[in-house]
Amino acid sequence: MHGFCVEFFDDFMSFSFSYDSMRNFYGLMSLYSAGDMGKSASFTDKRALWLRKRGMDILSLRCVRQVHGKEIVDASSFFPGREPSADGLFCTDASLVCGVTVADCMPVWIFREDGTAWGIVHSGWKGTGIAGILADSLGDGKKVAVLGPSIRSCCYEVDTERAWSFAADFGEEAVVEREDGFYLDLAAANRSLLEERGLTVYTVDACTCCDMRFGSYRREGPDFTHMLALCGRA
Ligand SMILES: [Zn+2]
Repeated sequence: MHGFCVEFFDDFMSFSFSYDSMRNFYGLMSLYSAGDMGKSASFTDKRALWLRKRGMDILSLRCVRQVHGKEIVDASSFFPGREPSADGLFCTDASLVCGVTVADCMPVWIFREDGTAWGIVHSGWKGTGIAGILADSLGDGKKVAVLGPSIRSCCYEVDTERAWSFAADFGEEAVVEREDGFYLDLAAANRSLLEERGLTVYTVDACTCCDMRFGSYRREGPDFTHMLALCGRA
Protein backbone atom coordinates (compact mmCIF):
# COMPACT_ATOMS: atom_id res chain seq x y z
CA MET A 1 0.00 0.00 0.00
CA HIS A 2 1.19 3.50 -0.76
CA GLY A 3 3.23 5.05 2.03
CA PHE A 4 3.22 1.96 4.23
CA CYS A 5 5.76 -0.84 4.09
CA VAL A 6 5.88 -4.15 6.01
CA GLU A 7 9.04 -6.29 6.06
CA PHE A 8 9.73 -9.74 7.48
CA PHE A 9 13.15 -10.74 8.82
CA ASP A 10 14.55 -13.82 10.62
CA ASP A 11 12.90 -13.30 13.96
CA PHE A 12 10.88 -10.12 13.65
CA MET A 13 8.64 -8.11 11.35
CA SER A 14 8.63 -4.37 11.10
CA PHE A 15 6.74 -1.63 9.35
CA SER A 16 7.50 1.92 8.43
CA PHE A 17 5.95 4.86 6.62
CA SER A 18 7.48 6.58 3.66
CA TYR A 19 5.72 9.89 3.95
CA ASP A 20 7.64 12.70 5.61
CA SER A 21 5.53 13.42 8.65
CA MET A 22 5.54 9.76 9.68
CA ARG A 23 9.07 8.80 8.71
CA ASN A 24 10.40 8.59 12.29
CA PHE A 25 7.73 6.27 13.63
CA TYR A 26 8.25 2.55 13.66
CA GLY A 27 6.51 -0.65 14.65
CA LEU A 28 8.21 -3.94 15.37
CA MET A 29 7.04 -7.38 16.44
CA SER A 30 8.93 -10.53 17.37
CA LEU A 31 8.00 -13.68 15.45
CA TYR A 32 7.55 -17.31 16.53
CA SER A 33 11.18 -17.96 15.56
CA ALA A 34 12.34 -15.48 18.22
CA GLY A 35 10.84 -17.70 20.92
CA ASP A 36 8.76 -16.76 23.92
CA MET A 37 9.17 -13.13 24.99
CA GLY A 38 7.46 -13.84 28.32
CA LYS A 39 4.36 -12.34 29.88
CA SER A 40 3.64 -8.68 29.17
CA ALA A 41 5.63 -7.10 32.01
CA SER A 42 8.35 -9.72 32.42
CA PHE A 43 11.87 -8.61 31.67
CA THR A 44 13.79 -11.75 30.75
CA ASP A 45 17.32 -12.17 29.43
CA LYS A 46 15.91 -13.47 26.15
CA ARG A 47 13.83 -10.33 25.74
CA ALA A 48 16.82 -8.12 26.61
CA LEU A 49 19.00 -9.89 24.04
CA TRP A 50 16.37 -9.69 21.31
CA LEU A 51 15.98 -5.95 21.97
CA ARG A 52 19.75 -5.41 21.98
CA LYS A 53 19.98 -7.09 18.55
CA ARG A 54 17.50 -4.45 17.34
CA GLY A 55 19.61 -1.66 18.88
CA MET A 56 17.26 -1.12 21.81
CA ASP A 57 17.91 -1.07 25.53
CA ILE A 58 15.47 -2.97 27.74
CA LEU A 59 15.62 -0.08 30.25
CA SER A 60 13.82 2.12 27.74
CA LEU A 61 11.02 -0.43 27.30
CA ARG A 62 7.67 0.31 28.94
CA CYS A 63 5.11 -2.48 29.21
CA VAL A 64 1.97 -2.95 31.31
CA ARG A 65 0.42 -5.86 33.20
CA GLN A 66 -2.08 -6.93 30.58
CA VAL A 67 -5.50 -7.95 31.82
CA HIS A 68 -7.67 -8.00 28.65
CA GLY A 69 -9.24 -4.71 29.73
CA LYS A 70 -9.52 -1.27 28.18
CA GLU A 71 -7.20 0.89 30.32
CA ILE A 72 -4.52 3.02 28.67
CA VAL A 73 -1.65 4.54 30.66
CA ASP A 74 1.01 7.16 29.95
CA ALA A 75 4.33 5.38 29.34
CA SER A 76 6.11 8.19 31.23
CA SER A 77 4.02 7.77 34.38
CA PHE A 78 5.80 4.75 35.91
CA PHE A 79 9.17 3.03 36.15
CA PRO A 80 10.07 -0.52 35.08
CA GLY A 81 9.12 -2.93 37.85
CA ARG A 82 6.10 -0.76 38.75
CA GLU A 83 3.94 -1.59 35.76
CA PRO A 84 0.26 -0.76 36.22
CA SER A 85 -2.50 -3.12 35.09
CA ALA A 86 -3.62 -1.91 31.67
CA ASP A 87 -3.71 -3.00 28.03
CA GLY A 88 -2.34 -0.01 26.25
CA LEU A 89 0.23 2.76 26.43
CA PHE A 90 0.41 6.23 25.00
CA CYS A 91 3.66 8.06 24.74
CA THR A 92 5.12 11.49 24.01
CA ASP A 93 8.74 10.70 24.92
CA ALA A 94 10.91 9.45 22.06
CA SER A 95 13.47 7.98 24.49
CA LEU A 96 10.90 5.32 25.48
CA VAL A 97 9.71 2.25 23.59
CA CYS A 98 6.19 1.00 24.31
CA GLY A 99 5.46 -2.70 24.15
CA VAL A 100 2.61 -5.18 24.46
CA THR A 101 2.71 -8.95 24.15
CA VAL A 102 0.33 -10.82 21.87
CA ALA A 103 -0.45 -14.33 20.69
CA ASP A 104 -3.73 -14.17 18.68
CA CYS A 105 -4.83 -10.87 20.26
CA MET A 106 -4.23 -7.90 17.99
CA PRO A 107 -1.58 -5.26 18.52
CA VAL A 108 -2.86 -1.91 17.27
CA TRP A 109 -0.44 0.97 16.75
CA ILE A 110 -1.67 4.57 16.53
CA PHE A 111 0.42 7.61 15.58
CA ARG A 112 -0.35 11.30 15.45
CA GLU A 113 0.74 12.54 12.05
CA ASP A 114 2.31 15.64 13.60
CA GLY A 115 4.73 13.33 15.41
CA THR A 116 3.88 14.50 18.93
CA ALA A 117 2.22 11.37 20.35
CA TRP A 118 1.79 7.68 19.63
CA GLY A 119 0.84 4.45 21.35
CA ILE A 120 0.01 0.77 21.19
CA VAL A 121 -2.71 -1.48 22.58
CA HIS A 122 -3.30 -5.18 23.10
CA SER A 123 -6.79 -5.92 21.79
CA GLY A 124 -8.46 -9.32 21.95
CA TRP A 125 -12.19 -9.95 21.69
CA LYS A 126 -12.81 -8.85 25.29
CA GLY A 127 -10.77 -5.67 24.96
CA THR A 128 -12.04 -4.69 21.53
CA GLY A 129 -12.76 -0.98 21.67
CA ILE A 130 -9.49 -0.14 23.42
CA ALA A 131 -8.01 1.02 20.10
CA GLY A 132 -10.74 3.67 19.95
CA ILE A 133 -9.91 4.75 23.49
CA LEU A 134 -6.24 5.14 22.54
CA ALA A 135 -7.22 7.12 19.43
CA ASP A 136 -9.32 9.47 21.58
CA SER A 137 -6.61 9.87 24.21
CA LEU A 138 -4.13 10.97 21.53
CA GLY A 139 -6.28 14.07 20.97
CA ASP A 140 -7.46 15.83 17.83
CA GLY A 141 -5.44 15.99 14.64
CA LYS A 142 -4.66 13.52 11.90
CA LYS A 143 -3.89 10.01 13.09
CA VAL A 144 -2.77 6.81 11.45
CA ALA A 145 -3.42 3.30 12.80
CA VAL A 146 -1.83 -0.04 11.98
CA LEU A 147 -3.71 -3.27 12.69
CA GLY A 148 -1.17 -5.97 13.40
CA PRO A 149 -1.23 -9.73 12.91
CA SER A 150 -3.86 -11.53 15.00
CA ILE A 151 -6.08 -14.55 14.79
CA ARG A 152 -8.35 -13.77 11.83
CA SER A 153 -11.78 -14.82 10.71
CA CYS A 154 -10.32 -17.89 8.94
CA CYS A 155 -9.58 -19.44 12.35
CA TYR A 156 -11.36 -17.51 15.11
CA GLU A 157 -14.39 -19.72 15.69
CA VAL A 158 -16.52 -18.74 18.71
CA ASP A 159 -19.81 -19.87 20.24
CA THR A 160 -23.08 -18.30 19.18
CA GLU A 161 -23.44 -16.16 22.29
CA ARG A 162 -20.04 -14.50 21.88
CA ALA A 163 -20.63 -14.01 18.15
CA TRP A 164 -23.96 -12.26 18.76
CA SER A 165 -22.65 -9.96 21.46
CA PHE A 166 -19.61 -9.07 19.33
CA ALA A 167 -21.85 -8.25 16.36
CA ALA A 168 -24.12 -6.16 18.61
CA ASP A 169 -21.12 -4.13 19.82
CA PHE A 170 -19.07 -3.82 16.64
CA GLY A 171 -21.42 -4.41 13.72
CA GLU A 172 -22.38 -7.37 11.60
CA GLU A 173 -19.20 -7.13 9.54
CA ALA A 174 -17.23 -8.09 12.67
CA VAL A 175 -18.69 -11.62 12.60
CA VAL A 176 -18.47 -14.12 9.75
CA GLU A 177 -21.06 -16.89 9.60
CA ARG A 178 -20.10 -20.16 7.89
CA GLU A 179 -21.84 -23.50 7.64
CA ASP A 180 -19.92 -24.82 10.64
CA GLY A 181 -20.30 -21.81 12.91
CA PHE A 182 -19.42 -18.22 13.74
CA TYR A 183 -16.01 -16.56 13.36
CA LEU A 184 -14.89 -13.20 14.73
CA ASP A 185 -13.19 -10.65 12.51
CA LEU A 186 -11.06 -8.52 14.88
CA ALA A 187 -9.63 -6.59 11.94
CA ALA A 188 -13.06 -5.54 10.67
CA ALA A 189 -14.17 -4.51 14.17
CA ASN A 190 -11.08 -2.39 14.78
CA ARG A 191 -11.03 -0.93 11.29
CA SER A 192 -14.60 0.31 11.60
CA LEU A 193 -14.19 1.85 15.04
CA LEU A 194 -11.02 3.65 13.93
CA GLU A 195 -12.36 4.79 10.54
CA GLU A 196 -15.44 6.11 12.35
CA ARG A 197 -13.03 8.40 14.19
CA GLY A 198 -11.42 9.57 10.96
CA LEU A 199 -8.16 7.65 11.21
CA THR A 200 -6.27 6.28 8.22
CA VAL A 201 -5.99 2.53 8.84
CA TYR A 202 -3.32 0.19 7.47
CA THR A 203 -3.37 -3.56 8.05
CA VAL A 204 -0.68 -6.22 8.33
CA ASP A 205 -2.76 -8.93 6.76
CA ALA A 206 -1.76 -12.09 8.61
CA CYS A 207 -3.47 -14.71 10.79
CA THR A 208 -1.37 -15.75 13.78
CA CYS A 209 -3.18 -19.08 14.06
CA CYS A 210 -2.70 -20.55 10.57
CA ASP A 211 0.45 -18.64 9.57
CA MET A 212 3.34 -20.52 11.19
CA ARG A 213 5.56 -17.43 11.33
CA PHE A 214 3.61 -16.34 14.40
CA GLY A 215 2.94 -17.53 17.92
CA SER A 216 -0.68 -18.49 18.61
CA TYR A 217 -2.55 -19.37 21.77
CA ARG A 218 -5.15 -21.30 19.81
CA ARG A 219 -2.65 -23.28 17.75
CA GLU A 220 0.01 -23.88 20.43
CA GLY A 221 -2.06 -24.29 23.58
CA PRO A 222 -1.01 -23.31 27.12
CA ASP A 223 2.71 -23.11 26.26
CA PHE A 224 2.09 -20.57 23.55
CA THR A 225 4.72 -18.13 22.30
CA HIS A 226 4.25 -14.56 23.56
CA MET A 227 5.33 -12.15 20.84
CA LEU A 228 6.47 -8.65 21.73
CA ALA A 229 5.05 -5.76 19.68
CA LEU A 230 6.86 -2.43 19.96
CA CYS A 231 6.01 1.14 19.12
CA GLY A 232 8.31 4.12 19.09
CA ARG A 233 9.75 7.16 17.40
CA ALA A 234 13.32 7.13 16.19
ZN1 LIG B 1 -6.20 -18.36 10.12
